[in-house]
Amino acid sequence: MKKVIVYGAGISGQGVADVLEHQGWEVKIYTDDMGGFEQLLDGVELLVLSPGVAPDKPEVQLARERGLKVLPEIEIAFNQFKGKMAGITGTNGKTTTTTLVGEMLKTLNVPVKVAGNIGLSLTKELEGLGEDAWVAAELSSFQLETVEKFAPQIACVLNLTPDHLERHHTLEAYYAAKQNICNKQSGEQYTVLNYDDTNLATWSMNLHSQVCYFSQKRDLPEGVCVQNNKFVVRWGGKETTVCAVKDMQIFGSHNVDNVLAAIAVGYLAGCSAENMARVIRNFPGVEHRLEYIRTINDVKYYNDSKATNTDSAVKALQAFPNNKIVLIAGGHDKQTDLGEFMRCVQEHVAELILLGEAKERFAKAAQGLGISNIHIVNDYEAAVSLAHKLAKPAQVVLLSPACSSYDMFKNFEERGKKYKELVMAL
Ligand code: ADP
Repeated sequence: MKKVIVYGAGISGQGVADVLEHQGWEVKIYTDDMGGFEQLLDGVELLVLSPGVAPDKPEVQLARERGLKVLPEIEIAFNQFKGKMAGITGTNGKTTTTTLVGEMLKTLNVPVKVAGNIGLSLTKELEGLGEDAWVAAELSSFQLETVEKFAPQIACVLNLTPDHLERHHTLEAYYAAKQNICNKQSGEQYTVLNYDDTNLATWSMNLHSQVCYFSQKRDLPEGVCVQNNKFVVRWGGKETTVCAVKDMQIFGSHNVDNVLAAIAVGYLAGCSAENMARVIRNFPGVEHRLEYIRTINDVKYYNDSKATNTDSAVKALQAFPNNKIVLIAGGHDKQTDLGEFMRCVQEHVAELILLGEAKERFAKAAQGLGISNIHIVNDYEAAVSLAHKLAKPAQVVLLSPACSSYDMFKNFEERGKKYKELVMAL
């Protein structure tokens, strides 16, 4: 019997362990708290990494030295999948775009799965699917870091901004991990890239695939763009109009990017313009992403708990151009630069309520720019009740923390739910 060790016992690890077992492998799951890794290695030929496992860990090095093949979970999923994959990555917007692409693919009337970093094991979800199936796969840099031959039929990179330096150490390593989504693609495959992102605008030079750019700023001769406030596809000498930008339910210019990307992927997968338009009109967004909660005294409350870095919080602030925002921010501090974020706060925010581990550093950065309406609180109860007190009619109260949630919550979902409960109780 062939032996494999699966490193990590989360959703991805458990999923791939199950599938490999079904295929007759002898599977051992290893986790950091177990110890004794070396003793497990006898006769083992493959080490499968869960996304949470950094490849520079001593166990992984040791496995390589002992001649084991080391592959990430998504490579196992990819190798076993007979259908077609649309892989979506980027610093922000992955879940929104992957969900939207999933809805578009469903209009092809073939079996469709939405999986990956979105909280469903890719290997497990793809098990047993046939050649006609499509999968919309959300892929993180952690999953892509160690791939070898991984090459989805369509790869999409939404944007690249600094994040996850705690894992990748350098920006170059983070961007390189992301680029693994398309490095091994061939000439029959497609890469969808954001032309408005300066990091991505030059990638096409190094790829073997057919590159379809999207842009909301430029009128592209080929690709997907906005013209006269309409989404337009120009591809293979043909021009197709999908729908108007105002047909979108989700809002903010970042979501225009997400819709442009989804249209490019959907079009290349064979979805019709009419079907894509219907999906876009009916798409309400994903929970915890600029999610509308309720209106009290002409003040609208929004939950953007998923904004776990400053770049995504900036996008949320920019989505309310004509409003004064009461912003609740802070959480586990990722120690990234706060310059751009605070300049945006200065422009869009009327009252800044800070909490969590990051509150002092955020307050200092805000004060440094001369921002004055800063309030420091200790918990979400105090934050919501203060926001309620401060907000004037026609303003919005927005939770967009620019931080991860691990200082006070299990994850961003728990944080968003707590916030929504407090808002509903006002
Ligand atoms: P991801 O899965 O990459 O974390 P999500 O779709 O869950 O992305 O969105 C997370 C947050 O990032 C949202 O709350 C929003 O504030 C912001 N965001 C969404 N799409 C984009 C985008 N295309 N560019 C920048 N920020 C975005």
